[in-house]
Amino acid sequence: MTRWLEERQQVLEASLLMEKKGLVVGTSGNVSRRLSAAEGRDLMAITPSRRYYDTLSAEDIVVVDFEAEPVEGDLVPSAETLLHAAIYRARTDVGAVFHTHSVYASALAVAGRELPAILDDQVVFLGGGISVAPYGLPASEELSTNVVSALGGHNAVILANHGAVAVGRDLRRALTAAELLEKASQVYVMAASLGQVNLLPPDIVEVGQAFFRMLQEQE
Ligand SMILES: [Zn+2]
Repeated sequence: MTRWLEERQQVLEASLLMEKKGLVVGTSGNVSRRLSAAEGRDLMAITPSRRYYDTLSAEDIVVVDFEAEPVEGDLVPSAETLLHAAIYRARTDVGAVFHTHSVYASALAVAGRELPAILDDQVVFLGGGISVAPYGLPASEELSTNVVSALGGHNAVILANHGAVAVGRDLRRALTAAELLEKASQVYVMAASLGQVNLLPPDIVEVGQAFFRMLQEQE
């Protein structure tokens, strides 16, 4: 008897899309979605640790509470489960989290360069410029603290010398945020290689951020 099979199937499909879109290589990265709290426990469904996405079935997606204690599923949950939990705790508006290793966001992560506000869709859907969270060892509490702090109220953050995290109200929006971050990062690197990066003017960024807040507040 399984209560969350439909939600686990959704996480499986989202993880396959993440891989197909080239946002991760091999078994890297992880995806989760928040589940409605049961018996006072906050829960999420998350991809398992070190498994190839195309070999997974819905039963392999693990349901855990925010202490990473297992509720459904037999596999070991992602090593970054506590990072996902820290984000859900800090951001009650967030219903899904993607951790990716996408190439251009990783280039900024290695260069230690934040992504300034350069594109309208970046501002409206990600919240503006994207910060780089200082390095923390994978799966460490330090990484969780740094990521939550650098993410703030935005929908994406770059992880120094590691990759990126994107969030959203649901799996579709969070995946779109991961793709938008990667696109904007690529455009930034390409524009910089052309020798000219024109930032969006601050008053235009403010207008875009007003739209961002409006979209965040919509049901
Ligand atoms: Zn990673």
